[in-house]
Amino acid sequence: MSAPVAPAGPAAPAGPAAPAGPAVPVAVQGPLYAEDDLVPLSALQHVLYCERQCALIHVERAWAENRQTAAGRILHARVHAPGGERRRGVRTEFGVRLVSFALGVSGVADVVEFHAGPGGETPFPVEYKRGRAKGGDCDRVQLCAQAVCLEEMLDVRLEAGALYYGEARRRVEVVFDPPLRAATRAAAERVHEIVASGRTPPAVYGGKCRACSLLELCRPKGVARSVRGYLQAIVEGP
Ligand code: SF4
Repeated sequence: MSAPVAPAGPAAPAGPAAPAGPAVPVAVQGPLYAEDDLVPLSALQHVLYCERQCALIHVERAWAENRQTAAGRILHARVHAPGGERRRGVRTEFGVRLVSFALGVSGVADVVEFHAGPGGETPFPVEYKRGRAKGGDCDRVQLCAQAVCLEEMLDVRLEAGALYYGEARRRVEVVFDPPLRAATRAAAERVHEIVASGRTPPAVYGGKCRACSLLELCRPKGVARSVRGYLQAIVEGP
């Protein structure tokens, strides 16, 4: 992992339904991350949920599923299937590959709607969530990161997108205002710092741990050490 650099004209990774756009993110100013340093867009959610969880997944490559993550994975696999449709002036693309060299992230958007208007089509990302709206900024930051990706890829400005919560069957509009954009950039920078450090922060047990799929691996009530160290201790014995 290296600090952001300014590569000459990086191209977005190939994807099934990426909308046509300029290869060089002309809307972006300032330093950019290199392609090798991109992290998954989902890491922004992880770092906001728990920095240790982020490090376990993105530094130590640990992963475990619980009921929530399995249900979420199945939902996203369904929604991520590439394709598209057009209804009442809205073109909809599913499973859109995304990249932002300014944030240093790449991933896949569930749905991007393209709303027709006098000035052409305006992209409008929609992220599907299985449950209800959670407290905190995790979901909004993830959506805003998708918007930043689309802005870079298409050289447009996005004002808003939406989160769709399956349990409540509710679509919530999210405005990409300056505080949300700042929170998104800060989350991305923190992920890159954690990955660059190669270190896993110690566990801090709290209410969030009960819903964490990594609870067994993390052992937040036990001795705070990395999963790598924990496995090493098992292999080496007492
Ligand atoms: S169990 Fe708790 S401390 Fe450990 S990764 Fe999950 S949320 Fe973080």
